[in-house]
Amino acid sequence: MSQRALFMPARRGGKRAAGALSPFDAPAPGNKFSAKRAACQHDHEHASKAEARRCNELHLLERAGAIRELQHQPQFWFVIDGRQVKHEGGRRVGYRADFAYFEGDKHVVEDVKGAYRDDAWTLRKAIFRALFPQVELREVP
Ligand SMILES: [Zn+2]
Repeated sequence: MSQRALFMPARRGGKRAAGALSPFDAPAPGNKFSAKRAACQHDHEHASKAEARRCNELHLLERAGAIRELQHQPQFWFVIDGRQVKHEGGRRVGYRADFAYFEGDKHVVEDVKGAYRDDAWTLRKAIFRALFPQVELREVP
């Protein structure tokens, strides 16, 4: 059985026509606390200029056929031994990447990072890699 169905967000509207742009979700507000929000060429509001620039690049790569199924802010939940990890208040713990796509058969998620990496990120990344070993997490400058 495909692992993909377990964690990939549902695609809306069925199959896209070849070459059509991805139906991106609106970015969740307030998920990044420092960088200024910025728009890309596809009218998404991104958390930073670097992320908007990367979005433009990824769209070009998708159009060129180098990647496919480009997604914006895919959500991964942390489930350990069948139990959803939660904060004290009940809020689920997980990881929302900036982008996801397939490069050949490889499932890739990207996090656009500046120089700043805090302990929370280091821990989140380690848990993500343990729970989703089939997904390659890339940190993009
Ligand atoms: Zn964008």
